[in-house]
Amino acid sequence: MIPPRSVRARLTLWYSAVLAVVLISFSAISYVLLSRHIRALTDESLAGTAKEFIAAFEDPEPAGGIDRGEPMRLDFRYSNRAILVFRTDGRLLLGPAADQIPAGAQAVLGEAVRSRKSGYLTLPGGVESDGYRVFIAPFGAVGKRYAVAAIRSLQEQTETLEFASRSIWVGIPLSMLIASAGGYLLARKSLAPVMVMTRQARRIGADRLSERVAVNNPDDELGFLGTTLNSLLARLEASFSAQRRFMADASHELRTPLAILRGETDVALTRDRPASEYRQTLEVMQRTIRKLSSIVSDLFLLSRSDLGEYPVRKSRFYLDELVEKSVESFRTLAMHRQQQLTFHSQGETIVNMDEELIGRLVSNLIDNAIKYTPHGGRIEVTLQPHGDRFCLTVRDSGGGIPPDAQSRIFERFFRANRLRGANDTSPPPVGAGLGLPIASWIAGAHGGRLWLESSGENGSLFVAEIPTGIPD
Ligand code: ADP
Repeated sequence: MIPPRSVRARLTLWYSAVLAVVLISFSAISYVLLSRHIRALTDESLAGTAKEFIAAFEDPEPAGGIDRGEPMRLDFRYSNRAILVFRTDGRLLLGPAADQIPAGAQAVLGEAVRSRKSGYLTLPGGVESDGYRVFIAPFGAVGKRYAVAAIRSLQEQTETLEFASRSIWVGIPLSMLIASAGGYLLARKSLAPVMVMTRQARRIGADRLSERVAVNNPDDELGFLGTTLNSLLARLEASFSAQRRFMADASHELRTPLAILRGETDVALTRDRPASEYRQTLEVMQRTIRKLSSIVSDLFLLSRSDLGEYPVRKSRFYLDELVEKSVESFRTLAMHRQQQLTFHSQGETIVNMDEELIGRLVSNLIDNAIKYTPHGGRIEVTLQPHGDRFCLTVRDSGGGIPPDAQSRIFERFFRANRLRGANDTSPPPVGAGLGLPIASWIAGAHGGRLWLESSGENGSLFVAEIPTGIPD
């Protein structure tokens, strides 16, 4: 069977099916219990009648006795049952009018008495073939043995049970019909807010992410759904606007070097120039192209890392050697800026990491320390193992980062502007504001963390704590 597509219909169907099972089981159990009870009542009343009769005849004996040799009319009348008294040889001694008992019953009962049967019997017959129920009990009077049979038609009992079963057969479908209609309306009413939310959510596109679905009661399940939907929309909105900002910042970053390239070539091509001027132009172009390609490669790394696609290729290597090499590669630049660049490491540190990425993290931090520290300053790099992690610190004696900018330095394209030392005559440091976000991502991708420990007038201290990737 193909399940109905609407939840309302499915709910109603389930509800009706469960209700049907409950109603049918309940009715079946009730019917069985009722019929047992009615049978037990019939049996009890027959046994009661027989016992009353026996009590009446046993003591005292009625004048003249009951056994006068001929069957006698017995007017021990009940409206719905009759009494028959048999001798032990099966001959009827006392009995009702012939029309009060089924044809042939007398012979069957006589036979039962003769074969010393007692207790309950069911006989066929009756107006609508409902049958008869009989209770046979032996008794003694004036030294002789007899048996009394109390007989009753089962018509009344059958009628009661038929009435009960008719009520069940009419009642079940009727209550199912009413309950299903009620269930459908209830499901419709309960699911109405979902329909409203669906319509609202459908209208919300990428350009309308600031809209939210209406939540009537935030404490119920549907309210919870609405709140969850809204928080999803809020996250989407934040991520969309971050993407847009990223795109805008990235194009802005690319515009400056492209404008320089265009300007340089335009100027160079206005007229013929001596070779030295062309050389100068080419040198500017080379620097600009390097910067451009570094920005593009940073952007590529960040966008791939956002998609979770940047591969982290781990291998074993000596981290102290890598940091030392990185420090050495900055030695000339530091000397050029008359800065003191030192590296301290506590022995060998073997790690299992992406060597290229970790190298990039180290060089981004040292590059910043050199860039943002005035001439004659000091830069100290240290590496300390701490169990299954290591701690890399880069301390400089630069002017620090303004307090209000400190929380934002790990944001993409963020650059804190700060006046550098008065006697610093080098050109202002240029960066795209991507170095720290990339370094922070690298630390995170290795299960570690990079943070700014302190920054002030006396310089800044950056700390990276990362698991070595090698079990203890
Ligand atoms: P950039 O390419 O501009 O250096 P980063 O993401 O590496 O970008 O750094 C972001 C900003 O944080 C820098 O523009 C700078 O203002 C500040 N900053 C980073 N490192 C230092 C440092 N060692 N000393 C002072 N300021 C720093």
